[in-house]
Amino acid sequence: MKPIDLGGIVIRDVMEFAGPRFRPHDLLPDSTPEAVAAHRHWMEPDLYDAARDLLWMDRRSYVIETRHHRILVDTCVGADKERTKPQWHHLNSPWMGNFRALGLAPEQVDVVFCTHLHADHVGWNTRLADGRWVPTFPNARYLFGRIEFAFWQANQPDPDGPILEDSVQPILDAGQAVLVDDRYEIEPGVYLELTAGHTPGHLCLHLQGTRHAVLTGDLMHHPIQVWEPQWSSCFCHDPAHSGRTRTAFLQRHCESDALILPTHFGRGAAGRVMPRPGGFRFDFLEPPAAPPT
Ligand SMILES: [Zn+2]
Repeated sequence: MKPIDLGGIVIRDVMEFAGPRFRPHDLLPDSTPEAVAAHRHWMEPDLYDAARDLLWMDRRSYVIETRHHRILVDTCVGADKERTKPQWHHLNSPWMGNFRALGLAPEQVDVVFCTHLHADHVGWNTRLADGRWVPTFPNARYLFGRIEFAFWQANQPDPDGPILEDSVQPILDAGQAVLVDDRYEIEPGVYLELTAGHTPGHLCLHLQGTRHAVLTGDLMHHPIQVWEPQWSSCFCHDPAHSGRTRTAFLQRHCESDALILPTHFGRGAAGRVMPRPGGFRFDFLEPPAAPPT
């Protein structure tokens, strides 16, 4: 993603993974092959791999620089974590190298914010040091949704692995965690919005510079869900609630100047929600890219 300057606020991303990942029906159980085929013309080649019938799904963090704070949003799968998904287990990814390539050191992050507490959004919260999980960002306060944290505390063990134990509890133990609610303000114009459904306490981050942007976490996983907002992902805790939250969000931001930045979209992720007959479409900032050969 090219850096985005909102006027007083700059957004950059840190990639952990990019590429085709899921068969449409596996990611979006309510989709049909016919309905997906109708979207191929705008998805190919870099949002849908037709030869393998796989939807692209990237995985990134965002680094936000405001006049007052450097904020890291969502921390991907991380390194060395014990996870039940084989592709996430003891992952060794270029994430930290990509973070440092922005000219940053972990000490320079002021705020870490996790949109929700799934394994692919909290991993780099901590790192392994002498066999113990310690905060990766020693000078940051970490913001976790109060509803989200309470939900996962009450629903252990997590089938994806000891996520709270290795990526959240060490932050609380270090005294760096802050539990936050809907409308929490990091600074004027930089605030959270509860967008429950994907998980019970899922939060988006609003950034108001000269221009407005919303970091939407997993409110949607693939741009086809802008066209088909009723298709919730297989990872959604409450698929019906997730669909209602997504549809309402798209209505609110349709044709507004807000840039929408989801965690997992390909093609540079950022775009605007625009109207089309009978619904919405997503206009990416960046043009379609050729897939790697
Ligand atoms: Zn995710």
